[in-house]
Amino acid sequence: MKLRIVVVGAGVGGLSIARGLLCDGHDVTVFERRPDAQPGGGAVTIWSNGATVLGQLGVDMDGAGQLLSAVRILTSTGRPLATLDVSAMVRRLGAPVRMVPRRVLVERLLKGFPAERICYNSCVVGVTGGHDGVRAAFHDGSSAEADLLIGADGLHSTVRDIVGAQHAQPTGWCSWQGLVSLPDLADKHVAQVIIGDRGNTGLWPAGGCDVQWWFDLPWSYDFVRPRRPTEMIRATFAGWSGSVDRVLAALTDDDLVHSPYPHFRHPIPPPGRGAVTLLGDAAHTMPPTLAQGANQALLDTMVLRKALWDLDRGDVSAALRWYEKTRRRKLMAVSRVASLPVSHRESVLRPAAMISDSLHTWALTTFLSRTSHHRMSMQITKELGAVAAAASCAVR
Ligand SMILES: Cc1cc2nc3c(=O)[nH]c(=O)nc-3n(C[C@H](O)[C@H](O)[C@H](O)COP(=O)(O)OP(=O)(O)OC[C@H]3O[C@@H](n4cnc5c(N)ncnc54)[C@H](O)[C@@H]3O)c2cc1C
Repeated sequence: MKLRIVVVGAGVGGLSIARGLLCDGHDVTVFERRPDAQPGGGAVTIWSNGATVLGQLGVDMDGAGQLLSAVRILTSTGRPLATLDVSAMVRRLGAPVRMVPRRVLVERLLKGFPAERICYNSCVVGVTGGHDGVRAAFHDGSSAEADLLIGADGLHSTVRDIVGAQHAQPTGWCSWQGLVSLPDLADKHVAQVIIGDRGNTGLWPAGGCDVQWWFDLPWSYDFVRPRRPTEMIRATFAGWSGSVDRVLAALTDDDLVHSPYPHFRHPIPPPGRGAVTLLGDAAHTMPPTLAQGANQALLDTMVLRKALWDLDRGDVSAALRWYEKTRRRKLMAVSRVASLPVSHRESVLRPAAMISDSLHTWALTTFLSRTSHHRMSMQITKELGAVAAAASCAVR
């Protein structure tokens, strides 16, 4: 059954679901408030769960960003806490883990995507409808009708507000982040996280000489941005490691103009009503601790596509409720773990070093597998067949 579908937002979530549903033969239009496809931001981590969905969508990720083989976690005094064996995780979950600039990921999602299916400068301000359809209203007074509307409009989602879901709550932390060029980085396959009691930092290779850096510090609504943020960041993080000091030396206040990014968390909404649903950050913004934002948006895409494949007698609303229910418990678990506080005193962190690296790796791999609909994902990949998916994909 061919549905007319409106997708609000052309981020990773909106583009991936639009790509999938176009492949499935639906009549899909994406509405994006920005004037063009130029995405901002640093790099995102695509774990095996997200990589599998990109494969199902026929997105060619060859050569994009940087493949990772390990994540090293240390304290701010240089004490090793754990090394996650990403290669073992990849072997078990069957798909690579890579760090990829958001710009590159969006470019790959857009490769072969019919340009006429995206309307830029289209800010959705209203959504109305009942069981038999839905109408999106835009800032310029125009509107679009569809059988189904997907709100993939990010953290401060308008569609989320319209369906009455709760607002995102700040977690008390923020990230100062960006990309830096470090040509002589020793091992480009190894990411590093350093945890202290007043903050934490990460250096994740993101392809070529690019390294994604972040400095996480406390944040609240009454936070006053310092005039020289680099000084504040250096005061906290200088001396944590040689590579951190090199990033700090290269950092200028201009690199920080878009920072900080406060961390928010959405309560995961209960199943909605009618022909409207939410996807990606609009449904479940979570702190970046587990680096799952883009991956969870991709998993939404996989499950929503499946819901619409199995559409029972054209009951769009029932299919959307199945998607929302199927995702809800997994998302609650991921969001809860991602919201655990990371920064602690050395004495609190020390017990983590007593757990073997293989147990740390096993625990994270098992968690990702259990929260990623692994069986459904394997079944879908099998049904599509990696090559057949790429060949039959209507958007190629
Ligand atoms: C500019 C930017 C930079 C980012 N940088 C990073 C980063 O460095 N690292 C990281 O891990 N994650 C980053 N993220 C978040 C990450 O991309 C998301 O967590 C993840 O990809 C899920 O994306 P999403 O598509 O659900 O939401 P988003 O990526 O937020 O996309 C939502 C889209 O909806 C559009 N939109 C919003 N409201 C409306 C409206 N009313 N009408 C029409 N369109 C609307 C927005 O312009 C945006 O393009 C960034 C997001 C953005 C928007």
